Amino acid sequence: MTEDYKAEEKKSLNFLEEIVEADLAAGKYKTIMTRFPPEPNGYLHIGHASSICLNFGLSLKYGGGTNLRFDDTNPVTEDTEYVEGIKKDIQWLGFEWANELYASDYFEQLYTYAVTLIEKGLAYVDDSTSEEIAEQKGTPTQPGRRNIYADRTVAENLQLFEAMRNGQYQDGEKVLRARIDMSSPNMIMRDPILYRIKHAHHHRTGDQWSIYPMYDFAHGQSDSIEHITHSICTMEFVPHREVYNWLIEKLEIYPSRQYEFARRNLSHTLTSKRKLLQLVTEKYVSGWDDPRMPTIAGLRRRGYTPESIRDYCERIGVGKRDNLIDAGVLEFCAREHLNKIALRRMVVFDPLKVVITNYEGAGEWLASENNPEDPDGGTRNISFSKELFIEREDFMEDAPKKYFRLAPGKQVRLKSAYIIQCDEVIKDADGQITQLNCSYFPNSKSGEDTSGIHVKGTLHWVNARDCFPVQVREYDRLFTVEDPGNAEGNFTDYINEHSLKVVENALAEAALKEAGVNERFQFLRKGYFTLDPDSTPEQLIFNRTVTLKDSWAKAK
Ligand code: ATP
Ligand code: MG
Repeated sequence: MTEDYKAEEKKSLNFLEEIVEADLAAGKYKTIMTRFPPEPNGYLHIGHASSICLNFGLSLKYGGGTNLRFDDTNPVTEDTEYVEGIKKDIQWLGFEWANELYASDYFEQLYTYAVTLIEKGLAYVDDSTSEEIAEQKGTPTQPGRRNIYADRTVAENLQLFEAMRNGQYQDGEKVLRARIDMSSPNMIMRDPILYRIKHAHHHRTGDQWSIYPMYDFAHGQSDSIEHITHSICTMEFVPHREVYNWLIEKLEIYPSRQYEFARRNLSHTLTSKRKLLQLVTEKYVSGWDDPRMPTIAGLRRRGYTPESIRDYCERIGVGKRDNLIDAGVLEFCAREHLNKIALRRMVVFDPLKVVITNYEGAGEWLASENNPEDPDGGTRNISFSKELFIEREDFMEDAPKKYFRLAPGKQVRLKSAYIIQCDEVIKDADGQITQLNCSYFPNSKSGEDTSGIHVKGTLHWVNARDCFPVQVREYDRLFTVEDPGNAEGNFTDYINEHSLKVVENALAEAALKEAGVNERFQFLRKGYFTLDPDSTPEQLIFNRTVTLKDSWAKAK
C-alpha cells in the first residue's frame, strides 16, 4: 500500500475506528488484526471494495495486518478460478494481505473443536430431517423443543460424529448441533447446526471430507485461530454474534470480536454475486469482466482506476444503516482522478471531411498539451494538413445565432491549430453533406495568434492523412431503475437495452496507435476512455469509462 493513500485519510473517525482506538487506548491490543473473508463463489464487486478498504484501511492505520481468508466451506459453488480472480482484484486495488489463508485449512482443527464440544456435552448428533428441525425450532414468540436425539450420550455422539466424517451416511441423514438454548429469543441460538453431511468434491480438500462446517461453526473459529482482533462483517450477521461469542467461550479459544457495518450498495446495478452470476450465465453481459458489470474486474476493464475506487469507498464511509449510493458518486470519483491523469487525445466519432482550400504547405507539426491539469504533462506533436475531419454534429447548415460551432460563413478554432471559416458546403445527389470547403487564417496559430479574430468555439479534429479507424464502445448504466435487485418482478426486466453503443470506424489521431491497456485518455469533448484488452494491432477498441459530465440526471 502506498503512502499517498494514508495522506488521503479523512479527519473524523468512523465508528469502527473509534472502537479500535478505544481498544488500543485501553491496552487491549498493541496492534490489530483484521481479515477479508470472501467466499470464492464469484468475482468481487463494488460492495466488496468497501469491505476491503475498511479492513485493510484499519490495519494500515493502526498497525498489524489483514488476512485474506477464503471462506471456502461450501464445496458446491466454489472454484479456484474465483480464488485467482479475487487475489488479482485485491492487489489491483492496492492492498497487500498479511497471509493468504483458507477456512478449509482448518477443517481438521474445526473437527477437533466439535469433538471438544461433544465431550463437554454441548453438541449432539441429530437424525431429524431439516423440516423436522425447522418445525421443532418454534417461532420468535414460542419456544422450541428438543427431540429424543438430544438425549444421546457423549459416547454415542462421538461415535456417530466419527461415522459421519467417515462417510457412512447419506447427505441430510444427520447433522451435528450445538446444545445452547431452545427457548432463546434469538432463533439462531436454538441449537444451531454445526456440521452437515455433504458428499461433494471440494476445490482444495478434494474428496477428503464428507462433512462440512456451517458458517457459524467455521467463521468465528477461523477468526480465533488467526487471532483476529476485530472481525468486521455486514449487518445481517448481528444475530449470529451471540453464537460467535458462545462458541469462543465454550471452546476457550482466542477471543476474537465481531463488529457489524451496513452493506454499501450502488444504484442502477446489483451487488449480489448470485445475481451477477445469472447475468453472466444467461449472457446478458459478456462475462464477469464486462465493462458494464459492477465487479472490480469489470470496472478495471472499463477504465476505472484503483485510486478512484478507493476514493469512492472513503467518501461513502461506513455506517450502520443500509444505503443505496447513487452511481453518480462513483462516476464523480472517476472523473476527479481521470481529469488529473488522462492523456488528452482527439478522436472524431462521426467524421465530416474539411478541405482547407487556401492551405499551401505539404503539412506541419503542431504541439498539443497532453494534460493541462498536469504541469509535467508535456506536449505531443499532431500533424496538420489540407484535409481534415471534424465531427459531423459540430456543423449546422442553418445555425441559430448563438451557435458557436461551425456553420456557413462562421469561424471556429481547431484545437491546438488554426481558426477556420466555412466557405462552401458540398452535398451529394441525396442532399447529404459530404464535405466542407474552408479557409484558414495563417496568423491564427494556437499560441502565436496575431489574427485578432475572436471565436467562441473550439473543435476537435483529426488529420485525414494519418488518422486511423478505431472502434469505440460507449457504455451506459446496466439497469434502467435505481434498485433492480428490489424492483417488482425479475431484475432482468430492467436491463438497459442501450447500455452499450458501438461506434465503428471512429477516426483517431495517430498518437493513439501507441495506446497501452493501462493508459487512460480523455478524448476531447467526448469523455474518458481506455484501451480494451480485446484490441488487436489491426483493430484498437476503446471503452468509455465515463462521460465528461453527468448526463444521466439531465436525460431523465
Ligand atoms: P454476495 O451476496 O454478493 O455473495 P457475500 O456477503 O455473500 O456477498 P462474501 O464473499 O461472503 O460475499 O463477502 C466477503 C465480505 O465482503 C464479507 O465480509 C461481506 O460482509 C462483505 N460484503 C459483501 N457485500 C458487501 C457490500 N455490498 N457492502 C459491504 N460489504 C460487503
Ligand atoms: Mg457470504
